Amino acid sequence: MKVSEFFTDKVIENIKEDIAESKGQEVFILGFIDRESGKVSEYNLLARGNKEMVPAIINDLKPGTVIIHNHPSGVLEPSAADIRVASRAGNNGIGFAIINNDLDDIYIVVEPKIPLEEVELEAGEILSFFEPGGELDKKLKDYEYREQQLKVVKELINAFNEHRSIFIEAGTGTGKSFAYLIPALYWARLNEQPVVVSTNTINLQEQLMEKDLVLLKKVLPFSFKAVLVKGRGNYVCKRKQRNLEERLADLYLDQADKQIELMKVLNWLDETGVGSRSEINFVISSEIWEELASESDLCLRTNCPYFDSCFFMEARKEVFSADLLIVNHHLLLSDAVLKYEGGGTDTGILPKYKSLIIDEAHNLVDTATAHLGKPFYVSGLNKYFQRLYQNKFSLIPRLRSKLTSYKDKGDFLKKIDSKIIPQILKINDLQAGYFNNFKNIFTDDERIIRVTAAVKESEAWQELEEYGGNFHIEMQKLGLYLHELYEEILKLDPSTLYELEEVLMELESFIVRIQLFANNLDFNLQAADSQHVFWIEKKQEGVYNQENAPLEIAELLPDLLWDSLDTLVLTSATLSINKDFSFFQETLGLEKSDTLLVESPFDYASQARLFIPDDIPEANSPGFMENMIDYLEELLLKIGGRTLVLFTSYNMLNYCVNKLSNSLQEKGINLLAQGNFPRNYILERFKENDKQIIFGTDSFWEGVDIKGEKLQYLIIMRLPFAVPTEPVTAARMELLKKAGKNPFMEYSLPWAVIKFKQGFGRLIRSKQDKGIIISFDNRLITKHYGKIFLNSLPAGCPVEQKSIKTIIKEDI
Ligand code: SF4
Repeated sequence: MKVSEFFTDKVIENIKEDIAESKGQEVFILGFIDRESGKVSEYNLLARGNKEMVPAIINDLKPGTVIIHNHPSGVLEPSAADIRVASRAGNNGIGFAIINNDLDDIYIVVEPKIPLEEVELEAGEILSFFEPGGELDKKLKDYEYREQQLKVVKELINAFNEHRSIFIEAGTGTGKSFAYLIPALYWARLNEQPVVVSTNTINLQEQLMEKDLVLLKKVLPFSFKAVLVKGRGNYVCKRKQRNLEERLADLYLDQADKQIELMKVLNWLDETGVGSRSEINFVISSEIWEELASESDLCLRTNCPYFDSCFFMEARKEVFSADLLIVNHHLLLSDAVLKYEGGGTDTGILPKYKSLIIDEAHNLVDTATAHLGKPFYVSGLNKYFQRLYQNKFSLIPRLRSKLTSYKDKGDFLKKIDSKIIPQILKINDLQAGYFNNFKNIFTDDERIIRVTAAVKESEAWQELEEYGGNFHIEMQKLGLYLHELYEEILKLDPSTLYELEEVLMELESFIVRIQLFANNLDFNLQAADSQHVFWIEKKQEGVYNQENAPLEIAELLPDLLWDSLDTLVLTSATLSINKDFSFFQETLGLEKSDTLLVESPFDYASQARLFIPDDIPEANSPGFMENMIDYLEELLLKIGGRTLVLFTSYNMLNYCVNKLSNSLQEKGINLLAQGNFPRNYILERFKENDKQIIFGTDSFWEGVDIKGEKLQYLIIMRLPFAVPTEPVTAARMELLKKAGKNPFMEYSLPWAVIKFKQGFGRLIRSKQDKGIIISFDNRLITKHYGKIFLNSLPAGCPVEQKSIKTIIKEDI
């Protein structure tokens, strides 16, 4: 067979580049066969220069793939080891081929299997699980047949069979997780393709992994593998562990608490089989965890002495053989960025996938915004320099000591002593001065400053820019010096290089990192990219972060994520505004996607009442809280507990805590205020008895799930409009204005409606729940846009306008 009959032209070119980058050494590749052309159309580079990885992963590969490696000698006859691996591959339906370095010759040891024809989902079989008397009914104690759930299942089946993208808003109580999990598992099973489910919160991941999927293992007529995927940084790197143990006698000499913590971690490491941070049941500081956590650019992969027992590599094998992968939005985006930057070949955290379900999809915009910026953090730079040159265990001293044993050490040591170390010291000095410059930009009470044209023209910024420009040049110089040293070392003979392999790998990663620091510093200092908004945040005295975010993620996500998918489902209880999905469709760059709105199966007409006082001042009028505090007090004392009060700022929340905590306490009512206690503690304490009230802001507007009588009242103090001066909000609104659009109607309002719906949804969590919502913000009835909020609420909820006194005296 000719090479061109086996690979697409693009793959031939890319593999040639990979071999050239590996300096002609062996590379191991996993090729994916395109069903239509029968050619390898995509591939992952598995390993360079080492055969050990192939047997390690072969059990987890799927038919339709082919293991390919090169024989640099050009002699393509398989060795005995090749035959051994090839026969194992063949037994699993996986092909095995050998190529030469020029890719003009190929020896196919085992023909790969062409992937299966796509198998469509059988609606009848899947829907039967949800019917009365069906398997879910038999296995779930309080299962209820819900037409709404069936609607979602049908759409999922169509989305998989017809390769569609769809937004599904499923009201609270629809049972959407089973509605997407069962079709997804059938699809993965029938088509031997993984399906990825992304969530925003750990709570939902836990619910899926520990409840829903456990039950489905008993319900479905086939076995499946579902894996919760964690990022690399969640696993201990055994090589870093060894390095840490070597330094033990010198670590934390005057910090007894840190030494105790370290001992606890090492004891845990003696016991653990998975090396995952989530297993640790004591508090571990980020400082110690970072000493141990696996890092991509420091990983030696197949060249690592611990490769065979590496925690992360073991976890990765599980990931690559799973039917269903549960991830969070951050990991989803990290993987997408890695795949995009790596050209979709050997990079990424997840295997190649074509079907994606995004739950809690209303959070994706914020995650993408946060994830796609290029920040410059002083904390990151400090850590970098500590690891580069702080003590004898840092990279440069270690490298220097290793190089002293070589006969041509003179040049190396000169370069380190006269160029690199002075340059590091110089940058350290510059770094301290750089952050001093920020003091002149901030006034005492400012925490965040958006970098606008006016700020850039100020004298303080000009000084920062001049100083930072020099800082940037010196960082680049350090990168250059490190690179020169690296290039020189590479000229040593192969056996010396082998001995230096670990430190060289680290050096390589430090070169990449200093370049990234320099680039990000420059990007933030220029603050000139019109596609980004820039700001500076004072984290604490003397600590400033430079941040930025893309203005429009709709431009980025198609290339990054959507275009590689066959099936995409975005779901949440809050995706529509006024029954319309266009806000999220446009914001996420998915204008052509389908939509489905499924109302909650709860009977809001009988389960809930929304009261809006019609005789109070507007919630954004001066002195609003001062005017309302007595009413709030009267209301809370009368209710006596079982209440969640949602605020839109800590200022407002703290004002009410100060004014009301004594009177509530006198009546035996416990006030659980956000900021005074951790979120989980508040939620657990709240369930202990009826005489408790939660005061919450931002994070309490969503994710609070308290069923039953413990939560019967919800008070919304103000409509949750974003702060208009917040940099991302302000910049995006300006952009809309420039485009001749109405920023309030097209940005502020939709986000406020989504958050209001989330807040509203905290009250009724089951068919048995009953409760009252009181909105202290009567713009719901006094402003033209109030109708948009009200029309976005669950159908049937009674809305009553009355005087505040009547509500307190007669309705509570
Ligand atoms: S393979 Fe990578 S992550 Fe695993 S122990 Fe080695 S260096 Fe660490």
